[in-house]
Amino acid sequence: MKTALLREIGQPLELTEIDTPQPGPGEVLVRVDACGVCHSDLHLADGDWDMLKPITKTPLVLGHEVAGVVVDTGEGVTGIAAGDRVGVPWLHWTCGECEFCREGREVLCSKQLITGCTVDGGFAEFIRAKASHAAKLPASLKTEEAAPLLCAGLTVYRALKQSGLQSGQRLCVVGIGGLGHLAVQVGKAMGASVYGVDLAEDKLKLATECGADGVFNAAAGPVHKEIKKLGGMHVVLVASGSKAAYESALRYLRKGGTLAVVGMAPEPVPISTVALVSLEARIVASSVGTRQDLAELLDLVDRNPSIRCRIETRPLSAAPEVLDQMRRGELVGRIVLTPHG
Ligand SMILES: [Zn+2]
Ligand SMILES: [Zn+2]
Repeated sequence: MKTALLREIGQPLELTEIDTPQPGPGEVLVRVDACGVCHSDLHLADGDWDMLKPITKTPLVLGHEVAGVVVDTGEGVTGIAAGDRVGVPWLHWTCGECEFCREGREVLCSKQLITGCTVDGGFAEFIRAKASHAAKLPASLKTEEAAPLLCAGLTVYRALKQSGLQSGQRLCVVGIGGLGHLAVQVGKAMGASVYGVDLAEDKLKLATECGADGVFNAAAGPVHKEIKKLGGMHVVLVASGSKAAYESALRYLRKGGTLAVVGMAPEPVPISTVALVSLEARIVASSVGTRQDLAELLDLVDRNPSIRCRIETRPLSAAPEVLDQMRRGELVGRIVLTPHG
């Protein structure tokens, strides 16, 4: 099958052919119709993350926002059959037995396998997946639109869920990129009043198109005074990986508010403990999502046709170029590869 292969960390992707995988017991073979390109793919390819670099397989097929159709099933697979449309997320497999799995926090599973990191992902014509961890996609959702929900959408959904955001509360999303514009839409669907902060006018325009009740451009100077005039935010979700975004975000919180950490800044962020204590603020961090989170998100999206990721489709052969463009910060919206398109 065709693939865009990462032969070694730090090397450009190579367009080549590898053996089509065969499904083993409990596994399915999925024809990849769409695979989103996530910033994590770039970080894995470049070896940026010390925690994942040692466990990243090479050669590796990247890609963990995989959507397609089951074409073959291995021994003992029930509940999923050839012809089913499924998504394969970052969390490829979890043990179900470790203390974290038992606590319902399988994203922390000690033995987890990660799609497009410790096992091959979706930058290829086919992917092998665990039947237990592939999610059936609702009919209302196009395959290309489903792909980015499997990481970007899931990540913001879990973060908002963990933050305790309630209907009628105020949410501020800082950084309106791939994750941020989905967070605006999911926040609206959860019944919140949603505000967007970014440095770029086109991103703020996107936030407004996604239903934001108000937007603030922080390029010209701090915007916390304007945000405080609204009463402050019950939840501030930082989808940006910028240290400056985090430094400002605490000032947007209402007393008793929650800072939801999603974007990963490369350097440590100083936080005022005086501010934390006087606000009784909470900080919650969130890492992708569990199967339960994914089922809830897909249901939410099925019931709210307004939640749709802004995507641009490209052929699989464009994968090396897409990573380069991402490295140069040239991409707007989510790129979805269509290996059979
Ligand atoms: Zn991702
Ligand atoms: Zn486990």
